[in-house]
Amino acid sequence: MNAEIIAVGTELLLGQIANTNAKFLSEKLAAIGIDVYYHTVVGDNNNRLRQAIEIAQKRADILIFTGGLGPTKDDLTKETIASSLQEELVYDEVALASIADYYKRTGREFTENNKKQALVLKGSTVFANDHGMAPGMGLCKDNKVYILLPGPPKEMNPMYTSYVETWLLPFTSGENLYSRTLRFFGIGESQLEATIQDLIDEQSNPTIAPLASEGEVTLRLTAKHHDAKEAETLINDIEKLILQRVGQFFYGYNQDLLHKKAITLLKQKGLTVACAESLTGGLFGERITEVAGASSVFTGGIICYSNDVKQRILHVPEEILQTDGAVSEACARHLAENVKKIMQANIGISFTGVAGPEASEGKEPGTVFIGLAMDEQPTIVIPLTLSGSRQQIRERTVKYGFYHLYKKLEEI
Ligand code: ATP
Repeated sequence: MNAEIIAVGTELLLGQIANTNAKFLSEKLAAIGIDVYYHTVVGDNNNRLRQAIEIAQKRADILIFTGGLGPTKDDLTKETIASSLQEELVYDEVALASIADYYKRTGREFTENNKKQALVLKGSTVFANDHGMAPGMGLCKDNKVYILLPGPPKEMNPMYTSYVETWLLPFTSGENLYSRTLRFFGIGESQLEATIQDLIDEQSNPTIAPLASEGEVTLRLTAKHHDAKEAETLINDIEKLILQRVGQFFYGYNQDLLHKKAITLLKQKGLTVACAESLTGGLFGERITEVAGASSVFTGGIICYSNDVKQRILHVPEEILQTDGAVSEACARHLAENVKKIMQANIGISFTGVAGPEASEGKEPGTVFIGLAMDEQPTIVIPLTLSGSRQQIRERTVKYGFYHLYKKLEEI
């Protein structure tokens, strides 16, 4: 069975609101193994809605409508569908009683218009609206399934979850979709894709879908199976193959975030970190303190933007600033080692570089050095050449910082 979602509402076409109902429903339908092949948006117009219904009837088994179930004149979904299907609209007594009760309780006048919300397609299953007035409904006719849902997400979402999903289950093959997202950092999307291209090409269950965003790449593995355990095994097997090739760039699953992963490891290992930040101007400290309970792993930081502060407070030798410059391997090393000492932390991390847009010290924007000094470990300095705007370079620098911190913590 495949579905088409038809969102009704001129405000969607005008760009006044985004079609979040389609997003919500698509995710939910995928989870019960119903493929969504089309999203349609149509205004509050009888003729165009009728055309949308005719097109959808040709290409979908399940037609799901959202919006236009309200009491006003432009709410015409039910009427148009009823006339398209040559079905009658009848009052649903339960919905009518609940709407009348609402008006009585709130002391408002119960008009004919309001009554209209209790009209449903004859023979349909009625879905109660626990968060509003217009009920939803589901009807099977001529081998097609029609589902009508209210527009407001706060009414539609719980109605779907509470009533519609169970009603839809007999129409599914019993195969559900199970997804797991693998998160990678430090490798570009095209490089990752090229490394596992043969796996992507060979796989149909699970499927492998790469996606890039803000310096990170994710792979979504989706298996279709009637048994959750079997689906998990399918996903585990392909994950193993992928990680054999690009495991060094892997850091987490699903909603995991780099900085949270690093903080969790710091907590587990009972270690603390301090930072010396030049080009990032406090972004690392901001990110780490965003997480509740950061005080157990973060002792503090110094924003050492000027050379004077690098020299006076963080004791970077003057000759290094004059010969190598502030944006250098040697400076990053001193900053990391000294901030660790000054802040009495187990780990010192430093960020120095050129955020741009102008070059500095004859070094191009995106030239960055991250220092990582750790108790009982040789200090390492990671040189980076980053691209992007000033803000992107600063953000990416911090992400690289958390990534290398996380990888180092994993090792020790
Ligand atoms: P009501 O009884 O509130 O009129 P309705 O079922 O008639 O409900 P509409 O009038 O079409 O629904 O839409 C009401 C509100 O619901 C819209 O103003 C908008 O805020 C929200 N809405 C409608 N359709 C969508 C959609 N596809 N995605 C997100 N929000 C939507």
